Amino acid sequence: MIGSELYNSVSAIRELMEANGLTMQKRFGQNFLLNQSARERIVDALGMDEKSKVWEIGPGIGAITSLMAGRCGSLTLFEIDRGFVQLLENLYDDCPSLQVVEGDALKTWPLYFAENGAPDALVGNLPYNVGSLIIASFIEKGLLPPVMVYTVQREVALRMVARPGAKDYSSFSMLCGLDYKVTRIMDISPGSFYPRPDVTSAVAKMELRTQRELEGYSLDDASIRFVYFRIVRDLFKARRKTIRNNLIKSGLLSDMERDAAEALCLECAIDPAARGETLPLEAVWKLSGRYASL
Ligand code: SAM
Repeated sequence: MIGSELYNSVSAIRELMEANGLTMQKRFGQNFLLNQSARERIVDALGMDEKSKVWEIGPGIGAITSLMAGRCGSLTLFEIDRGFVQLLENLYDDCPSLQVVEGDALKTWPLYFAENGAPDALVGNLPYNVGSLIIASFIEKGLLPPVMVYTVQREVALRMVARPGAKDYSSFSMLCGLDYKVTRIMDISPGSFYPRPDVTSAVAKMELRTQRELEGYSLDDASIRFVYFRIVRDLFKARRKTIRNNLIKSGLLSDMERDAAEALCLECAIDPAARGETLPLEAVWKLSGRYASL
């Protein structure tokens, strides 16, 4: 095991890396979080206890891991960098409740999930280039832990919390907002990372909605979810176009008679002449429920 303070110091990190023959791999979006109070706030936001099953995506050399190892029931780390995987296995060889899954988390998590079930909490200081893809893959494939806390580029966090009509409202807002209440709990400046990134980061906390029914349809109905994610994609395909263009002329509803498709939208309080970015997700969920039961 290793103390968390080590990760506050660039020279200590460099020493640890050098001693283990490690180098940074730019393509994996490696920026270590140097700021101890930010790391503590991230871990606190998980609300874990000694029984919790926790997953961490992209542990790197263990800056956040060091605050969780031995403090929860089990800790599973998903890391793509083989050198980091070996380092973590060495650092934590005395911690049987911790395991490391090597490889691209986008590919490795579904099998691990199938064999081990869902975690109680999920955390990650995500690489900028694939952060939103990773979050989307969990939600779209139905991995919905009670709490998730992600460090992402600030712009991504703004999209996650955006409300209809706001400039940041997007398909990603509709994706994250369906199952989760999302809050931006803090921003983190570039100087808090090593190496220093060009962008500001933010931490988004996602809390699962306990009320699992919306507009009369279960949020856990796989066939409605499938339709919802498809509609959400269609709605934002061409941002300046109307719902009529993105969803009815092309898109999912183009397989229906035009009048019937428009009537279905109106029944869900969706004006076909409006644009996707004005639509509350509740209306889209209702439309998905109606469409799935046609
Ligand atoms: N958690 C560490 C910290 O906060 O200091 C490192 C965070 S760093 C921004 C992102 C980490 O994700 C790196 O360790 C990188 O190697 C890893 N990573 C990048 N792409 C990945 C992927 N597709 N699957 C799993 N890990 C990935």
